[in-house]
Amino acid sequence: MSACVEETAFSKTKETTRIVIIGAGASGIAAATKLLEQGFKNVQLFEAEDRIGGRINTVPFANSFVDLGAQWCHGEEGNVVYETVKDLDVLDRTGDFAVYFVRSNKEILSDEQTKVLKEFKDEFEVKPDCEGSVGDALNESYWKEVGQKAFPDNRTIAKEALDCMKRHICSEDACDTVSELSPRNYLNFHQSGGDQNLSWRQKGFWKFLSILLNANEDQPGDQGVLKGHVHLNKRIAEINWSGSGETTLRCWNGQIVSADHVICTVSLGVLKEKHPKLFVPALPADKVRSITGLKLGTVNKFLLEFEVQPFPEEMRGIACLWLEEDLKELRGSKFFWLESICGFHRVDRQPLLLEGWIIGAHARYMETLSEEKVLEGLMWLFRKFLSFSVPYPKNLLRSQWHSNPNFRGSYSCYPTYADELRTGRTDLGSPLVHVSGRPRVQFAGEATSQTHFSTVHGATESGWREADRLIEFYKGRAEN
Ligand SMILES: Cc1cc2nc3c(=O)[nH]c(=O)nc-3n(C[C@H](O)[C@H](O)[C@H](O)COP(=O)(O)OP(=O)(O)OC[C@H]3O[C@@H](n4cnc5c(N)ncnc54)[C@H](O)[C@@H]3O)c2cc1C
Repeated sequence: MSACVEETAFSKTKETTRIVIIGAGASGIAAATKLLEQGFKNVQLFEAEDRIGGRINTVPFANSFVDLGAQWCHGEEGNVVYETVKDLDVLDRTGDFAVYFVRSNKEILSDEQTKVLKEFKDEFEVKPDCEGSVGDALNESYWKEVGQKAFPDNRTIAKEALDCMKRHICSEDACDTVSELSPRNYLNFHQSGGDQNLSWRQKGFWKFLSILLNANEDQPGDQGVLKGHVHLNKRIAEINWSGSGETTLRCWNGQIVSADHVICTVSLGVLKEKHPKLFVPALPADKVRSITGLKLGTVNKFLLEFEVQPFPEEMRGIACLWLEEDLKELRGSKFFWLESICGFHRVDRQPLLLEGWIIGAHARYMETLSEEKVLEGLMWLFRKFLSFSVPYPKNLLRSQWHSNPNFRGSYSCYPTYADELRTGRTDLGSPLVHVSGRPRVQFAGEATSQTHFSTVHGATESGWREADRLIEFYKGRAEN
């Protein structure tokens, strides 16, 4: 069919066209609410989970709410999350996120050493001509700038502190090791200026979605303006975009749905695992290359509720430094996975909680353990590192982002493998378009964001970007 014949044949308008959005996370919700606002009528979201929100997962805990996924609004300038809520007085500044660096022999690094490490971490940047990985750049500048200054006579502690900093970077950038992280992760990301850890006053990140949805802020999952448009527990198993007409989607339960436009927002982890079966015919080679090259790393959280806050008043949080001999012993024990815990900190406005973070392969292993075993490990860690005793918590909650087949990880990064394959986010986000220019299958989600990947603001922008693509396409197509 020629482009011109197809254009005549495709006579849909905003009123009649059928749009299916796969996934009801931040990007799917952003796309759907914008399309409805703009007068599109037939917008349906198919969500595999039994809830909306995706990697925003605000849940009740300790008489309040906590986030198992996204938690902070990272920055103020050029951040659409901040822009959306800035006049509503819903965010708290958490300010300086200072922690104590604690060694596995219970020693705490001096204030001066802590200051130098923190300054280095805050100011560390990757030069545009950087060759190799972020790990290479970090090693070089650390030993030049910090190793000698903060620890002139003690290369051992300097090395422990560097390992600790590396774990911290992995938790921010969702890589398993900094040596697999591409400089592009720093060079392409546009950090929004201002406070990097704005928190939601016990309402959790759901507060942001409740505003997009005009839903109840105290009821995570309320669908607000999307009521009647969302289909929960509906995993899409196949997207058939063969031919030149409509796209046919098959749900896991056999239900068939037809659409003129599909916006696919599933995570990069789901794409990696499922794309060969999910798309019929197979995706083009450049898209597959980007799915293969980019990475969805694993970062998980622990939330612990105590009768009384176990950390002393002045202690906001701790970061763990392993002595070489302790690490050796740990690696031979059943608690080997504790090596990848970055540390623990207090939770804003929730004085009885502690929150901990774990990264990479050990985070994936932790997901396979029972809660009892996880708690046994965490209590062992507290005893190992702290000179005061931490009582058994009342409750534990931990995230398991990798083992959930609807996510398969936490957030995306550029590994050096993506550089080797010469691929990136442009290929991932580009739509499958009919020769006439009609978008057929579009891609949104944090991993498709060029400059704000791995964040909620990036996911939201990507949903709006794909909504705008359709709004633009239907401009001038008069209603009959
Ligand atoms: C532990 C953790 C901490 C984080 N902290 C922050 C933070 O502090 N600040 C910040 O800005 N960002 C943070 N993020 C990142 C942020 O949560 C994500 O970037 C963002 O929420 C991703 O939204 P999305 O719409 O791209 O994807 P998702 O939220 O993953 O949405 C995709 C949806 O698709 C559904 N789905 C998958 N497969 C199918 C299928 N076959 N059929 C139908 N539906 C399907 C999924 O269930 C999911 O609901 C964090 C993430 C994690 C995991």
